[in-house]
Amino acid sequence: MPRSVVIVGTGQAGFQTAISLRSEGYDGSITLIGEEPHIPYQRPPLSKGFLAGKQDFETVLLRPEAFYPDHRIELIVSERAVEIDRAGRSVRLASGPRVLYDALVLAVGARLRKLPIENAFYLRTLDDSIELKERLERANDIVVIGGGFIGLEVAAVARSLGKSVTVVEAQSRLMSRSVAPIISEFYHELHTRRGVEILVGQQGLPHPADLVIVGIGVIPNVELALGAGLAVADGIVVDEHLQTEDPTIYAIGDCAAYPNPFAGARVRLESVQNAVDQARRVAASIAGRREEYRAVPWFWTDQFDVKLQMVGLSNGCDRVVTRGNPADGKFSVFYFKEDRLAAIDSINRPGDHMVGRKLLAGGIGVTPAQAADESVDLKKFG
Ligand code: FAD
Repeated sequence: MPRSVVIVGTGQAGFQTAISLRSEGYDGSITLIGEEPHIPYQRPPLSKGFLAGKQDFETVLLRPEAFYPDHRIELIVSERAVEIDRAGRSVRLASGPRVLYDALVLAVGARLRKLPIENAFYLRTLDDSIELKERLERANDIVVIGGGFIGLEVAAVARSLGKSVTVVEAQSRLMSRSVAPIISEFYHELHTRRGVEILVGQQGLPHPADLVIVGIGVIPNVELALGAGLAVADGIVVDEHLQTEDPTIYAIGDCAAYPNPFAGARVRLESVQNAVDQARRVAASIAGRREEYRAVPWFWTDQFDVKLQMVGLSNGCDRVVTRGNPADGKFSVFYFKEDRLAAIDSINRPGDHMVGRKLLAGGIGVTPAQAADESVDLKKFG
């Protein structure tokens, strides 16, 4: 078992690796290094409850400060790792020192994709969210560029604060990369009904605004891995054990491109589930319990009072059936690929989501007809 583990990145993935190592019984040294000034915190509330003023700073933190020394986790914040010396098994920090490792976990996440628009605001970090909250208070006319999850969540918060909000989406429908047209339509209608102006198939600023917020996705942080000669392809390339070609170096979370058994391809996912489950798997491997990573992907988004929960991967699906009625504000969409269930998106139907996790994890099939028929109790399959 390695005697020292160094984790670069204090996001959800880095944090979870550290705590899971301890819960796996790993007794060696753990150093958790992050460039942000804060101790580890959650990102989802930054565009939801925290931004809306319903959650305070303490509830966003993943653990209180005392947790780290109590668990012998050496937490170094405001410090950037700038170089990996693979031969010498060390990481060089921007301030000079080198930290030696037996196992290194790259949990370096992703950074914002930007647009050439002056004074545009972007949301990724806790500090961004604190600043955005202040700016929202002062602004009246807000334009959100990007009709993906984060753009729409921010639009919903801003509208709930009584602001005039316009969302501009370049594609022909909302959240088009991730959901079926019926879900896009539901959200288009939801936002419109609540007073958000939605412009699809458009780019740039539709009119002058007090505040322009851009949410057009992220770019994985691969430079550290690249500098160490590790393979990179829209993310740091890892195998089914989340190991790079250097077996002492793992990569997890938003920065990692891994072979996903459900997709049958290498994918890079951006979700809390992905960060947490990959971290748990790597921690277990380091602690001596080596297994392939096979967790079922899932995700959620909250907009106004509507929760969308997604499980599985719907890309490349050839058939979609609906369970329940969108007009009731509660329904699920089941995605099939060559007649095999591949994903389920549930709107205000958490029961379908939980069943979906079991079905997909167990490789249990339901037919499109069964999925669409509400008299069929899917729990019996799971
Ligand atoms: P990150 O959170 O990006 O953490 C990586 C950390 O490493 C960063 O702090 C970065 O500064 C640091 N770092 C990078 N390079 C270095 C270096 N060289 N040296 C030191 N430190 C470095 N997911 C969901 O599932 N549901 C949601 O509702 C949801 N909402 C979200 C809302 C917002 C506003 C955002 C931004 C994300 C949301 N996500 C959501 C996505 C989810 O939060 C991320 O997928 C997850 O946090 C990724 O964790 P990570 O640890 O892999 O990466």
